[in-house]
Amino acid sequence: MTIFEDLLVVQQFDTTLDQLRHRLATLPERAARDAAHARVEQATAALEEISERLRAIRAVQKEAEDHAALLEDKAAAANASLYDGSVTAHKELEAVQEEISSLTSRQAHFEDEALEQMELAEPVEEELAAARAELEAAIEASAAADTALAEAITVLEAEIAVVETDRSSSVEAVPTELLVTYDSLRAGLGVAVARLAGARCEGCHLEIPSAQLEAVRRAPADEVVNCPECGRILVR
Ligand SMILES: [Zn+2]
Repeated sequence: MTIFEDLLVVQQFDTTLDQLRHRLATLPERAARDAAHARVEQATAALEEISERLRAIRAVQKEAEDHAALLEDKAAAANASLYDGSVTAHKELEAVQEEISSLTSRQAHFEDEALEQMELAEPVEEELAAARAELEAAIEASAAADTALAEAITVLEAEIAVVETDRSSSVEAVPTELLVTYDSLRAGLGVAVARLAGARCEGCHLEIPSAQLEAVRRAPADEVVNCPECGRILVR
């Protein structure tokens, strides 16, 4: 096995490593994880929005209830004054009765309003329950997506580690200088080493002109010969 054949083996490992690293970077589990996290964010925002809406309705309801309670107390106090002897004059009694009737009607108005708010809150409570369930499901799905991604990464990283070990043992046979040439060619061309099959370079698939082919064939076995068409290192 020539050093060029060794280099070809290194290149095969590098190609495999590129593919594995690309798979690692573009794991579908990554997109799934991002989507799952976005779902949690959306569900959280929806829950907050609904809670806020419900809080506002409950605040109006509470205010109406407080008003009603206050008016009820006032009406009760006025009513008591009718019987405790503090009001005796006919006119005064009439005025108190009018006041009671006014207080009672205002109380009824606020009670209606409180009831209206309660009715408004009902479907929002249902929305809130659904939003809570959605958030719970989203959090669960998100945790599952995290796990799936972590597992996929572990599997690929183990595969990469195996190939890296294989590569490092095969690279030992290749002279450093040749590796430097290989690396720079690889950076530009992607594939740096190609077999010469007959007169054809398997890197660019072009036939090497016969005059140059003679020189290629005559070159010593350990000499680096590049394809005159594409510049790749030829394995002869
Ligand atoms: Zn070529």
